Amino acid sequence: MKFYIETYGCQMNIADSELISTILIEAGHQLVNNIDEADLIIFNTCSVREHAENRVLGRIASEKYRKTSNPDLKIAVIGCMAQRMGKRLIENYSVDYVAGVDQYLDFPKLIQENKGAITDPDYTQTYSGIRPHHQSRTCAYITIMRGCNNFCSYCIVPYVRGRERSLPAELIIEEVKRCGEKGLKDITLLGQNVNSYAYQDINFPKLLRLLNDIDSIHRIRFITSHPKDLSDELIEVMAECSKICEHIHLPLQSGDNDILLAMNRNYTIKHYINIVNKLRKAIPDIAITTDVMTGFPGESETAFNHTLQAMRQIQFDYAFCFKYSPRENTKAADLPDQIPEAIRLERLKKMVILQREISKNKYEAKIGSKVEIYVESLSKKSAHQVSGKTRDFKIAVLDGTERDLGTLKKAQVLASTGSTLLCG
Ligand code: SF4
Repeated sequence: MKFYIETYGCQMNIADSELISTILIEAGHQLVNNIDEADLIIFNTCSVREHAENRVLGRIASEKYRKTSNPDLKIAVIGCMAQRMGKRLIENYSVDYVAGVDQYLDFPKLIQENKGAITDPDYTQTYSGIRPHHQSRTCAYITIMRGCNNFCSYCIVPYVRGRERSLPAELIIEEVKRCGEKGLKDITLLGQNVNSYAYQDINFPKLLRLLNDIDSIHRIRFITSHPKDLSDELIEVMAECSKICEHIHLPLQSGDNDILLAMNRNYTIKHYINIVNKLRKAIPDIAITTDVMTGFPGESETAFNHTLQAMRQIQFDYAFCFKYSPRENTKAADLPDQIPEAIRLERLKKMVILQREISKNKYEAKIGSKVEIYVESLSKKSAHQVSGKTRDFKIAVLDGTERDLGTLKKAQVLASTGSTLLCG
């Protein structure tokens, strides 16, 4: 079959789409980049927010018309929403195939046998034997662990992705080397909580040291870190290893201790700020990005102001701001004092405005400085420019051509748009 994949959600899903593409290609199917050519449309989905699920249901409905002119066309749903909704997607939304997050190896069989849904959880599945076809020519997402043990009270991930399991270190090292040799020299390690990576006697900082020794790559990043598990050893390794970028994504979620407790985040704002201080002391140029949420059940105006206050104090380089979205079967969905949508929206707007201003200042502060840019792609706006990222995860544009892809460039920051550095 000719298959087309549409991916929603986090980087983990981007990596999973590459994984399932590889599985299907090895089974004889063909990946196409144009949906019009496909006879199998796959939606790789996210369940973290209701909005993300509704978008996919809308997309499925809007693609169903293709079945009239092509009765053989099949629609498949994979990923977290497939795991969560299972057969309901077939019964209520005219989906043909549903494969849960641990069942991708059996997806070709599902197509061959024209069956419906396979969603049995397998909490040992790591897909460790598969070498994914990475879509980018310059950067690679590499999954180092799957699942999560943390059960933050608002989060559906542990229910759909199961418990933590880490991939063997030797396979990760081999995959990173292979990517580097193919020209993908910017590596992002993925896991729901990379700080709890554990394989035999190798913890996450030790894994980073081993990867830092690989000659064929230029840069290493990782997402996501849980503040409760971020160790002094990790900070030390980040400061010492030259390939680890001066950037960390450290979800704050709330600046209020009572809300953090109700979220089951297992840290206080004091602990979080303490980590930020340690990181900035050890790695002075580090950029800190975050996820932050408003409208969690019981969030008073005072609690919300504590979050704004924390954002002002910490000065994140960037923050992904969200409003709380109740998810079926999570503890928070049953809590009293659910915050009305209008208030959630109003608070979200305030958070976004505040962060936009902070990020703009962070970008402007770079003007005049020298930066190292890893060139990731051709610029979408100009044939004579390329785009990439600085070590501290800022988007940068500079003059260049296709030949520069996958290389490091030194440049001076000439101006900022507030979200992009213009370099020369
Ligand atoms: S750490 Fe918390 S928010 Fe992150 S995936 Fe696990 S349960 Fe969800």
